[in-house]
Amino acid sequence: MQVKCVLCDVVENIDDYSLEAKRLRNRKTHMYLCGSCNERIKEKTLDRHATGKFRLFEEKKKEDELI
Ligand SMILES: [Zn+2]
Repeated sequence: MQVKCVLCDVVENIDDYSLEAKRLRNRKTHMYLCGSCNERIKEKTLDRHATGKFRLFEEKKKEDELI
């Protein structure tokens, strides 16, 4: 089936029986992201996770110092 990336409007052909195709058919509002946009989003998410972990670590460290 043909799918259009919501970010850059690139049209890609994906396997009709792939998990992605199944998801898109089941949910009409499901947004498709092409490979490069997916990578970009993943990197941003990982960055955010890394920052979150760093903050958690900092908070924990402060607690330890108080004890
Ligand atoms: Zn894209």
